Amino acid sequence: MSDDPDTDFTFARQGILFIISAPSGAGKTTLASRLFQAIPDLRPSISYTTRAPRVGEVDGRDYHFVSEDHFVRMRDAEAFAEWAYVHDFYYGTPRAPVDEAIAEGRDLLLDIDVQGAKQLKGIYPEAVSLFVLPPSWQALEQRLRGRGTDSEAVITRRLHRAREEAHAFPMYDYWIVNDDIDRAVSLLHAILIAERARVARLRTRSIA
Ligand code: ADP
Ligand code: 5GP
Repeated sequence: MSDDPDTDFTFARQGILFIISAPSGAGKTTLASRLFQAIPDLRPSISYTTRAPRVGEVDGRDYHFVSEDHFVRMRDAEAFAEWAYVHDFYYGTPRAPVDEAIAEGRDLLLDIDVQGAKQLKGIYPEAVSLFVLPPSWQALEQRLRGRGTDSEAVITRRLHRAREEAHAFPMYDYWIVNDDIDRAVSLLHAILIAERARVARLRTRSIA
């Protein structure tokens, strides 16, 4: 080890993909926006979707909202790192921004479903996957109704699917119960910061 007092111990590392999944209504969007405030250099991956924007959603910020034709053309050109058919619509993660972020050492948070998480972990094994659970099924139902964005039929379908999706949580690296928002955000924050400090992620591992 160098005894030069000017040795700089800041090392470059690859960007990390943080995948966050949850049954709809568990609070993933709420937790993600709190994480972006707490970790300013964490960025969202902006997915493509064929669903219509909800009130308040902005094209290019929340999603790239595209037609089914557009989506299928991108899919066939292999422009997606992963894609899935969720709740009657297509959703996909564009590949180029993900690969650029990894190469440039920037960390991304990807809010994607269980099918997408499985595909991404296959392609990017160093990705970190996080599964958010509601404290109970009853709480989940209350949150979906309380959010006021979905019709009764949509809520019923989402609740049904939530139970199916929750079975996937053992394949994730971390699980977070979103009972109290502050507690859940602190836990997520701690996981992200610790993952950034892993020696295995460094590009250079010797100190001359
Ligand atoms: P998701 O993105 O997982 O579908 P949202 O973030 O939209 O879920 O949250 C669903 C609803 O539950 C929202 O109205 C949100 O304000 C509320 N919510 C989120 N986390 C909590 C929590 N810990 N306690 C109570 N309500 C919550
Ligand atoms: P919403 O329509 O409520 O925004 O999202 C519905 C579901 O699609 C959520 O579970 C969300 O995580 C998932 N989703 C959003 N973007 C993507 C994506 O690019 N790929 C996959 N596989 N799922 C996504």
